[in-house]
Amino acid sequence: MITHHVPATNCPACGKVLNAATNATYEAEEPAPGDYTVCVGCETPLVFGPGCSLAVCDTGSLTAAEREMVEAAVATLREAKRRLGREVAR
Ligand SMILES: [Zn+2]
Repeated sequence: MITHHVPATNCPACGKVLNAATNATYEAEEPAPGDYTVCVGCETPLVFGPGCSLAVCDTGSLTAAEREMVEAAVATLREAKRRLGREVAR
């Protein structure tokens, strides 16, 4: 997987500084406004805005397919953290 470095932005839910993202679907593509992501610290679904700004994702407004994709990303992150045997540093 390719890690894209993005301008440092605080997670709007927990305040963790986020400065990188991995595209789970099209790994070569950098994050774009409207793309969903998940905070590695607090696992809150987020959405990219202009300039890689971040907002908490209103999951109630997602289609069933989008919600399923976001839930899968959260599950994948949780599994990765479990496998590491430790929580990613907050
Ligand atoms: Zn967070």
